[in-house]
Amino acid sequence: MTRLVRRWVSEMRGGRVLGLVPFLGIAGTLLSGQPTHLRCGAGHDFFSIAPSGDITLCPVTPEYEFMRVGHITETGPDELHGCASPGEPCASCDILWVCGGRCIFINRVKDWVGEEGYGLICSTVRHLVGELEAALPEIRGLLEEGTIPPDTFHYPEINNDCEVIP
Ligand code: SF4
Repeated sequence: MTRLVRRWVSEMRGGRVLGLVPFLGIAGTLLSGQPTHLRCGAGHDFFSIAPSGDITLCPVTPEYEFMRVGHITETGPDELHGCASPGEPCASCDILWVCGGRCIFINRVKDWVGEEGYGLICSTVRHLVGELEAALPEIRGLLEEGTIPPDTFHYPEINNDCEVIP
């Protein structure tokens, strides 16, 4: 990951921005300082409707009752917007503002991976964020001198359910 970030930045020196989603999205948040919600939007502004009419937090896990947040005949958009967010350990994590909580399903079933497993996953997120933080001064310089366009890190332009944080 470290080598990939270095390669990504070195390509930028020549004005070429590789479309690596985690880097674009995370660098955008770090540059703007604007906290992110869960990156895919689950529980915030992105929901899934199952063939049964059930509304779920995520399209890949409709079979779990705890992912169900309503039904199309009973639940309106106002009740859904922002109805769920990651619990601990994300809720009190110092980099929640840039990570967003990674995946609400895994957060809900964190006991499956245990504290150690969750910590291992988070260590990869911390490493990724740290590498991009370290690259920020150079990225800012490339933006300021116009080597890369100002909208480079506006990713995604509209929420497309992409998780961004792997
Ligand atoms: S780094 Fe881990 S604990 Fe922190 S917000 Fe991301 S997934 Fe949650």
